[in-house]
Amino acid sequence: MDRNLLEKYAEIIVKTGVNIQKNQIVVITAPVENYEIVEMISEIAYKEGARDVITNWVDERITRVRYLHAPDEIFDEVPEWKKMFYLENVRKGAAYIRLSGSDPDILNGVEQDKIIRSNKAFGEALKEYRERLMSNKNIWCVASAPTKAWAMKMFPDLNENEAKEKLWEAIFKANRIDREDPIAAIKEHKANLKKSVDFLNGLGLRKLMYKNSLGTDLTIELSENHVWLGGSDFMKNGIEFMANLPTEEVFTLPKKDGVNGIVYSSKPFVYNGIVVEDFNITFKDGKAVKYDARKGKEALKSLVELDEGSCYLGEVALVPHESPISQMNILFYNTLFDENASCHLALGEAYPICIKGGENMTKEELEKEGVNSSIAHEDFMIGTEDLNIIGLDKDDNEVVIFKNGNFIY
Ligand code: ZN
Ligand code: ZN
Repeated sequence: MDRNLLEKYAEIIVKTGVNIQKNQIVVITAPVENYEIVEMISEIAYKEGARDVITNWVDERITRVRYLHAPDEIFDEVPEWKKMFYLENVRKGAAYIRLSGSDPDILNGVEQDKIIRSNKAFGEALKEYRERLMSNKNIWCVASAPTKAWAMKMFPDLNENEAKEKLWEAIFKANRIDREDPIAAIKEHKANLKKSVDFLNGLGLRKLMYKNSLGTDLTIELSENHVWLGGSDFMKNGIEFMANLPTEEVFTLPKKDGVNGIVYSSKPFVYNGIVVEDFNITFKDGKAVKYDARKGKEALKSLVELDEGSCYLGEVALVPHESPISQMNILFYNTLFDENASCHLALGEAYPICIKGGENMTKEELEKEGVNSSIAHEDFMIGTEDLNIIGLDKDDNEVVIFKNGNFIY
């Protein structure tokens, strides 16, 4: 891979992604395989004035071994030191970088029950951490770097080096790092997303109605005080950051009990190291009441049944079918990329920032606004080239939003 491009990418993660401030702590969560870029990110972060850069290495092959062989009761426990690791840093205002690069099949064959219990235990123990990130009280950015297993899943006909090389190319392209001036290209891209955001916010929509030839026929109500967001994220004090690199979506939240109809997936979705394919979900008054999948139904079941909120939606996101990632026409088996190639929805927690003033509301106030809460937040892709979305405004006028997979304007 081109080291020059790698350095540009690392720089964008630090300066545009988390927009690191003087004296701030940075926590990087990354696969052990991503050593080279983590070293670069750390160096740039220190040069930009970071107080400390803490690396939270993960190795999912070890995680798999643990799931297979550790005593059963361990999956209900979260050690105090681990809890403190998250809470201490998050309370000190740390910025969080995560490099996502999972093997999509890593937990095949592991008992779902252990994964669910472990997710629940961590979800409850790290509630404060999660809530602070979801409401932009701490800066966070998810970016990506190839791992062997992930690259080989995407390009099974190539050898390891070729596959990783090809995946790097795709990551650079998706992030506009291959452009002559990536920073200017990202700036221009953010301005374009802002146009979609302004268009949608200007309409004051009450409902969205989705239809395509897969069989999707879904109506999503929006809360009166919903806000569409996209491109940059902002902290309360005005500091700008980008929570996802890349990002192509504009998004808001659905009214928790206002989703009805059926929706079909348009791409596989990886949940807990298991690929879920060709699935559909039926919603009634917001709740997923029926679902089926050709592959990975057990994993889908474990998500829907995870907690009270994981069977409700927490995000509605629009991504044009002609977005650059979608045009690459490759399946990443990684939500960070696949969600940015397709209109999607998320099961689980909604972002309070998608309600006017939501970041300062109590849990009860958010509930009244129809904001869903859950320890899960999982995007799944539903966009197709023939997806049509019609909106209804306050006076029940129909407005075409998406025609044949793309924004109308
Ligand atoms: Zn999204
Ligand atoms: Zn999401």
